[in-house]
Amino acid sequence: MELQRAHIEQLKTWLGERPMKIVTVSHTNPDGDAIGSSLAWAELLRAMGHTVTSIVPNRHPYFLNWMPHIKDLVIFKFDSERALEAIREADMIFCLDFNALSRLEILTDALSENTHARRVLIDHHLSPEEGFDLLFSYPEASSTCFLVYEIIEAMQGVGAITKEMAELLYVGMMTDTGNFAFSFLTPELFRAVAVLLERGIVIPDIHNNVYNAYTAGRARLFGYVINRKMELIHGGRVAYMSLNEQEMRRFGFQQGDSEGFVNYPLTIKKMKMSAMFIEQNGFIRISLRSRGKVDVNLFARKYFNGGGHKNAAGGKSFDPMELTLRRYEEAVEEFAAEGGLG
Ligand code: 5GP
Ligand code: MN
Repeated sequence: MELQRAHIEQLKTWLGERPMKIVTVSHTNPDGDAIGSSLAWAELLRAMGHTVTSIVPNRHPYFLNWMPHIKDLVIFKFDSERALEAIREADMIFCLDFNALSRLEILTDALSENTHARRVLIDHHLSPEEGFDLLFSYPEASSTCFLVYEIIEAMQGVGAITKEMAELLYVGMMTDTGNFAFSFLTPELFRAVAVLLERGIVIPDIHNNVYNAYTAGRARLFGYVINRKMELIHGGRVAYMSLNEQEMRRFGFQQGDSEGFVNYPLTIKKMKMSAMFIEQNGFIRISLRSRGKVDVNLFARKYFNGGGHKNAAGGKSFDPMELTLRRYEEAVEEFAAEGGLG
């Protein structure tokens, strides 16, 4: 991954003009990469003398509560006045870890309250939408945190990275690569991790904080989903699971509890694609994962009004669960018939 020098220079010029009011925003249901990249970038901007407000549409999962500076996050759903004021006054708005304003959901309209701010996208999803003044769009970056690391290195050198920033950046690098198991695992990424280690991060502690801090209810829910809800179709090469609101209540579901479930069917030999359907506030949120050449970004775009990455994508359905699942089964057959499953 080679950052475009001219973009770095442009960013340096804008950030060097004067102390500014800056807002960072990231996507709905923010994950480790969204929050890690937002907060680390905000810390760098503060160190440069800017005033920064980091906004997310809704709350992060509870197992990220330990992250440095997480209390600085303004959660639009609970604190919309503060978020709106910061957006209205912002000279610059950084959009991190998403490629379309619609991914902000309840926060989407708020961004149109400010039309004078410079808008910069820092993201690693495919096909970013238009309307940004500066674009750091690198789909070959394994995480937005890695991209932020590269930008900081190019702008100021790694000496600007504090231990807390290093912890934040590591979270996104770790979670978006499935603990360094998925694609885009480049030598540069591991060099970046080596630098973060030199800044003092303790990898086993971060790993425990993120992956070993769930509730017992979540463990039981996982057992239930795999045992009772996993359906195998297309000769056992495609899987899907679903959870409705009643099932989630039964296991004391908290936001983030289903994170990672969708990956599990891919541990089955020859499995090509897996989907998770979760009922949430009157619609169904879909998570898709695949192996190798199977492109769930395409699948999500074509059938479920979504997108993401080649091997990890998502979408939505506004139909009832049963109908959504039938639509999925039909879509899989059509996708397979067109060669989508290889
Ligand atoms: P997850 O399954 O972890 O929620 O999402 C997997 C990937 O797909 C993430 O990179 C996420 O940003 C993307 N994604 C999830 N839902 C949507 C959606 O509704 N629209 C688009 N464009 N991308 C999504
Ligand atoms: Mn990401």
